[in-house]
Amino acid sequence: MIEKTRSWLLGSRDNPQQYTQHAVQLIVFVAFLYAAAINYVTSASGYINICIQLAMSISTLGIWYRSRWHNEYQRMAITFMVMITTITLPINWFLNGGSFGPTFFLNICVFMYISVAFRKNPYYRYFGQSFAALVPIPLVMIEYYHPEWISTYPDNETRLIDLASTSVVTSIFMLLMMENLTKKFLLRHSKVEQLSEQLRQLSERDSLTGLLNRRAFESSFTEWKETKECLTIAAVDLDFFKKINDQWGHYYGDEVLKNSSTQLSEMSKDTGSLAFRTGGEEFMLMMPCTLNEAYQHIQILHDRFAEMKLLNGPVTFSSGLAEVKPDESQDQFLKRVDRLLYQAKNQGRNCTVVE
Ligand code: GH3
Ligand code: MG
Ligand code: MG
Repeated sequence: MIEKTRSWLLGSRDNPQQYTQHAVQLIVFVAFLYAAAINYVTSASGYINICIQLAMSISTLGIWYRSRWHNEYQRMAITFMVMITTITLPINWFLNGGSFGPTFFLNICVFMYISVAFRKNPYYRYFGQSFAALVPIPLVMIEYYHPEWISTYPDNETRLIDLASTSVVTSIFMLLMMENLTKKFLLRHSKVEQLSEQLRQLSERDSLTGLLNRRAFESSFTEWKETKECLTIAAVDLDFFKKINDQWGHYYGDEVLKNSSTQLSEMSKDTGSLAFRTGGEEFMLMMPCTLNEAYQHIQILHDRFAEMKLLNGPVTFSSGLAEVKPDESQDQFLKRVDRLLYQAKNQGRNCTVVE
């Protein structure tokens, strides 16, 4: 319920820029309404002051309404900035005790607000910041030459209460602004993390088959060798693939590669293994099991290849299969398994040689 009301009033939290802008506008609206009501009840100031405060309150509500419900966020943000710097601050100065009152606090709030709300609009931001920074100078000068233009507090107690309460409001406002900046930073940070994760995944995938690539093989080898109890790897190479390409075309060759990859991928999912495409028609299967178990997995894979539904009949593969020794480097292992694969090719293909 609270969340619903909040999003109705302020808009989506995913857009911190607009969300904060609307919150600030509503705070200013309530503050002026409150000031007018207090002045009316306590008769602290004249009717003209109360009317001015009411007018400011209603204008701010109008700005919020156009911004929130008429898609005029940008235009209303500028209108609001112009209003608070050129009208609200000076009026507050004259109505609230000039340099003895809380306008300096509000001035800092306005400066901070402009810095946050116009972060992406340097032109408006510099203009607004300069105006907010310099506006106290003419006000102080006017007060110096025409102190009678400044309405004074009825007594020192009222002045101190006004200063203390404005100080609290200022602190809350600063907190809101800082939260806005933090939120923006976190949003951007999580977007960067998401993108870098996507990039990492893309850099480890083969675009044709969707299998992991050679780069991923190299990092997985090191990781699995350290973490798995036993690690057996098969080097898989399609048989007579060049002939398939020559006879049926490169496009058909690609289809064979994709279908073969699907078999490898499904088999790896079933056995908790990883499948890689490390070259044209060369693959690696990394299996966290013993040589015997891995050999059975590979036999099942040979059967699945034989049943593969391809336009011009099934294809076969040859493979070399070996368990990684604890003290063996990646290079040493690859040489060993390549030799086994070479033997499988020499033994007439469509078979697996184990060491
Ligand atoms: P063997 O049984 O001894 O392995 O013979 P082979 O013909 O399979 O082996 P060879 O290494 O001579 O040929 C591999 C062929 O794979 C050559 C190359 O044109 C083809 N190739 C490599 N990458 C791709 C690819 O992405 N798509 C297609 N269609 N063909 C590819
Ligand atoms: Mg081949
Ligand atoms: Mg080959």
